[in-house]
Amino acid sequence: MLDRRSFLAGMATAATATLTHADEKKYPPGRYFDMHTHLGQTWNTTQVLTAEVLLRWMDAHDISQAVILPLINPESSSYPLTSDFVLATTKPYRDRLIPFCSIDPRTSFRGGHKGLVEMLQKYIAAGAKGFGESKPGIPFDDPRNMALFAACGEAGLPVLFHLDNQRNTDKPGLPGLEKVLKENPNTNFVGHGPGWWASISGDATQAELGGYPKGKTVPGGAIDNLMEKYPNIYGELSAGSGANSISRDLEFGREFLIRRQNRIMFGTDFLAPEQDVPQFELFEQKLTLPPEVAEKIFRSNARQLLNV
Ligand SMILES: [Zn+2]
Repeated sequence: MLDRRSFLAGMATAATATLTHADEKKYPPGRYFDMHTHLGQTWNTTQVLTAEVLLRWMDAHDISQAVILPLINPESSSYPLTSDFVLATTKPYRDRLIPFCSIDPRTSFRGGHKGLVEMLQKYIAAGAKGFGESKPGIPFDDPRNMALFAACGEAGLPVLFHLDNQRNTDKPGLPGLEKVLKENPNTNFVGHGPGWWASISGDATQAELGGYPKGKTVPGGAIDNLMEKYPNIYGELSAGSGANSISRDLEFGREFLIRRQNRIMFGTDFLAPEQDVPQFELFEQKLTLPPEVAEKIFRSNARQLLNV
């Protein structure tokens, strides 16, 4: 017969084992959840990326799941990658490839706010878990963007946006983004791109919102300020801009990731075969995060936000 203490210890072990087993069963194996990839041909200078090649690359880099983003704003890519294309291409692989949907803010539609929400709901019914990549050549707080962001909030879709001096434009300190966050408290936003990531530093200039600034990061950046004030802003570390924001000043970058551990997500912007991805060198060689922080940033923040 077991005494009470051994019995309880056994129960606890069994519970832990069940939990671990459930986790393994729920998610495909892998260290990372990649918040930012594209399928198809993005640029006239890049090759087509197929779902099969993307999945093999994910296996080679310990990536469990990846978000696949449409690109439909004419300023965002050389060829349009539509929501329907993304939904269809990911369909056989939905355990690992998570589709988003997108609508250009200049699109013609009828029925006002309700009409927009219904368009989004059709994409949700087809499997979309978020909105983006939003990358139109208009100011970020343009009324046509505002209408879309309100519809995304009502439909329950987080918005992943690219910000630079050409697309979703803003000023140093990101006052346009602040207006968007304030007026759309029910919409979650995920920042990406040069203008967003240059704003990790308090001294970001207008020119730097379109570039990859080097050198020491100055405290008091717009990202920290906005994350302090608004619960609906997140960031993902994809592309040259995301990697640069941390590697330009590793000491500040590491502190930032620990400070904002509930708001930051791993991402690559992988979009073509053989593409060089700086994030692996950054997180596997240059910088070590506490394991519980790494777990949130590499995987669980994204899964929680997207409810997958
Ligand atoms: Zn992208």
